[in-house]
Amino acid sequence: MKLRRLFWLFPLLLIFLVAVAIQEEFSKGNNDYQRIEISNYDTDPTLSREERNLWSENPRDENWQVYRSPEVNEVFNYSKQKAIVASNTANINPYIGLTASGVTPMFSTENGVALWPNCHEIKVSTGIDFFLTEVEEMYDVIDGVTEIIRAYSGLAMTHSLRTTGNHPVYGPSLISTVNLPVPEKNSIFAVWVQADSPHLSPDELGTAEIWHKIEADGTPTITRARIVLSEKLFQEYGLGLIGRGSNIETAVLHEFVHAVGIGHSTNKNSFMYLDLADDSFLTIADLAALIFAGSRSC
Ligand SMILES: [Zn+2]
Repeated sequence: MKLRRLFWLFPLLLIFLVAVAIQEEFSKGNNDYQRIEISNYDTDPTLSREERNLWSENPRDENWQVYRSPEVNEVFNYSKQKAIVASNTANINPYIGLTASGVTPMFSTENGVALWPNCHEIKVSTGIDFFLTEVEEMYDVIDGVTEIIRAYSGLAMTHSLRTTGNHPVYGPSLISTVNLPVPEKNSIFAVWVQADSPHLSPDELGTAEIWHKIEADGTPTITRARIVLSEKLFQEYGLGLIGRGSNIETAVLHEFVHAVGIGHSTNKNSFMYLDLADDSFLTIADLAALIFAGSRSC
């Protein structure tokens, strides 16, 4: 009698084990963590480090990819290096300089800020809801902003090729945006959605999300990012200079800067302040933050 009971249990146990195995398989490819654009730059000391968006050090940083002007070095406090006595060297690191300038990171742990490593390509692909008509303009803005981020940070951003017929071409994919795909690994997916899209709250014109993993040495590394842009940007703003004033390009640049790991600025003149204004611009501190975003070695 006892033996019979056991035989009855065996197939159940087998089903359970298979179910556990399938579950693990599904979660394997997606074991990085997601962080949606933060809506503040809170410095309240009762909040956790992640909520306060503090700069923190990682030995892999400062592998600069682009030229740093004396003004940028000043943000990092490097220009004062010689004047400062040895006992005070804690004041000459970029984390302190960036903190003082009001720039924040998107996400950090005690082992550093979540950044893209600067040793491999980051594919940028554009999706446009197939109900939208300004396809060319929407793609051109992404294209231009990508070039700016690449030039300022030194990150190896490349446009994804899309296949139409037999010909691989650069350009947007026209897609349904009912469900947004998780971006592929090592890619930034920028998608234009309709004005009433449920992926944005009614007062949001754009948002950015980054996914990160914690590496064996504790370093937080960005693995993928997604930028959602509302067609309302085209209805409420005009085209303008990238990084200056409230225009479509500057709003898109704001979201792309989040996608490389930079949070909001406490400087009201910065285009990385919570709200864009007509006199918003890309400050030297913002430029320093972009240069820093490209300084993480593998
Ligand atoms: Zn923002």
